[in-house]
Amino acid sequence: MVPSKEKKFFIRFNISLTHYLKLSPFVCGINYRSMKNRIVWKEGENIFVVRKGKTSNDKISNGKPLVQTYTFSEKQWVLASTSKGFGMKKFFALDGSNCLDCPYSGNQGKGGCYTHKFNQYVGFLSMLRSISIEDLTPLDRDKQNEIIKMSFNTYVRFGTYGEPSLLPISLINGISYVADGWTGYTHQWEKKWANEYSQWFMASTHDAKEQRKARTIGFRSFIATTIGTEKAVSCPASKEMDYKSNCAKCGLCSGVLGKGTKDIKILEH
Ligand code: SF4
Repeated sequence: MVPSKEKKFFIRFNISLTHYLKLSPFVCGINYRSMKNRIVWKEGENIFVVRKGKTSNDKISNGKPLVQTYTFSEKQWVLASTSKGFGMKKFFALDGSNCLDCPYSGNQGKGGCYTHKFNQYVGFLSMLRSISIEDLTPLDRDKQNEIIKMSFNTYVRFGTYGEPSLLPISLINGISYVADGWTGYTHQWEKKWANEYSQWFMASTHDAKEQRKARTIGFRSFIATTIGTEKAVSCPASKEMDYKSNCAKCGLCSGVLGKGTKDIKILEH
């Protein structure tokens, strides 16, 4: 994280952290020339992965590398690393600690999350199988610095898999400080403990009633709607907007501190 000494420097000279980092790549003890592209840590029952790389998903990015965060349960890691052929249903049913009570999680019975697709599932298994027990140490300062380095001037997608509000606030704060932009969504917005995450993430809502409720507790909404009459801006990467943009370029789904002030909606087809 950025030491207070540097923060005072930014305030004194009235420059942004991003600008300062561009000018001096060796500040804060961070060497921006050597960089890892994946950091793993374990906290409680969950395993966190932050990875920099490309995606073939045009809705997310236009081919540039991006940083994505993943939260798996330790149970999912054990299953993936010790057996084969168990199937998606069994894998996603083990998401109690990393997806909590999200209505689209496997542990809640119905599933239906957009991550429960075969290609993504295969990617998750391969990611989990590449994690060794030696990787499962806590998030220390070195790991945090590596994450900040890889996020510098890059679009960051929080919660590519798993609940992003399980990430430490201090880490999210540091990442968003140096990132080119970010997006994130939470189904935990109604929980008191998750209120602070409204600064960076959108409340995942589904209609005008939930939208109003989220607004009263300080969240902007991302409304996945079947009606589409809600007062909100249509996602430019949606079918109804003719796939005009992508998240890396748009970045509107970035909570109160990010880009824009309005709620966003997308039609559920
Ligand atoms: S509004 Fe922008 S950031 Fe949000 S989902 Fe659509 S393209 Fe992505």
